[in-house]
Amino acid sequence: MLAAAAVADLVGSVEIIDAHELPEGPEPRTGVPQAVHIHLLQTGGIEAIEELLPGSIDLLLAAGAHRIPVTTNVLVYAPEGWYRRWTRATHSLITASRDLTDSVVRAQVLKHARVSARSHTKAVGLLGSRDRITGVRVRKSYGTESELRAELIVDASGRASRTPQWLTGLGINGLKEAASTQVSCTPAASTALPCPPVTGPSSPCRPIRACLDPPGPGASCRSKGAAGTSA
Ligand SMILES: Cc1cc2nc3c(=O)[nH]c(=O)nc-3n(C[C@H](O)[C@H](O)[C@H](O)COP(=O)(O)OP(=O)(O)OC[C@H]3O[C@@H](n4cnc5c(N)ncnc54)[C@H](O)[C@@H]3O)c2cc1C
Repeated sequence: MLAAAAVADLVGSVEIIDAHELPEGPEPRTGVPQAVHIHLLQTGGIEAIEELLPGSIDLLLAAGAHRIPVTTNVLVYAPEGWYRRWTRATHSLITASRDLTDSVVRAQVLKHARVSARSHTKAVGLLGSRDRITGVRVRKSYGTESELRAELIVDASGRASRTPQWLTGLGINGLKEAASTQVSCTPAASTALPCPPVTGPSSPCRPIRACLDPPGPGASCRSKGAAGTSA
């Protein structure tokens, strides 16, 4: 959805293809089973959504999301120890269910005059040759296949992406890949801190907790009226 927002003003029209349902509201989606786990947005994500879809964060907060200032009301434990709690918040987290965040983003994107969406439609291959990709082959959930021509294709199908294999099938090999490294993680059900690093010093584990019951470094946040949620 955000990729569609990013290109919508640069192209004639954008068609979003999703293999599963695209519900009207904050309902679960078959294609994102990880949505049952807690999801939060960090400052970079908040700013990116707001830049691409102005007004979305206010809509998200109005729909029930929480903005939690960092690091006044969030406790961070890293391999080096507890992060210092500041008296002034410079960043914030937005906590909401993934379904809620998705629904606000989806509604904002689909308001765009040049953006439309096809649900229950799976991309099953790329069209074209090793010289030029010209579209995607799509299959409806009831089995009918068709071709969708496009000048620009953004694969946002997540970890199930078959694009590398499809490109290889067209004879396209040896492409340079740019990757970003995930540098933080939020255990879905962390009740015991401290948590050791899970993947080595280059990718530290940073469990984040909004409030802990005393005793612990988070004891003071209750007396300041912070929300008693944890992320
Ligand atoms: C336990 C857990 C906790 C997480 N917590 C956070 C968090 O707190 N904050 C955060 O920002 N991220 C979090 N993430 C990561 C986040 O869920 C993923 O990074 C993010 O969903 C990836 O987005 P995506 O759009 O690339 O893919 P996905 O969200 O996986 O979406 C893929 C979409 O593509 C569709 N699709 C798949 N294949 C096809 C096809 N062939 N044709 C058409 N459509 C297709 C699917 O239906 C789906 O809609 C968490 C992940 C996990 C597992």
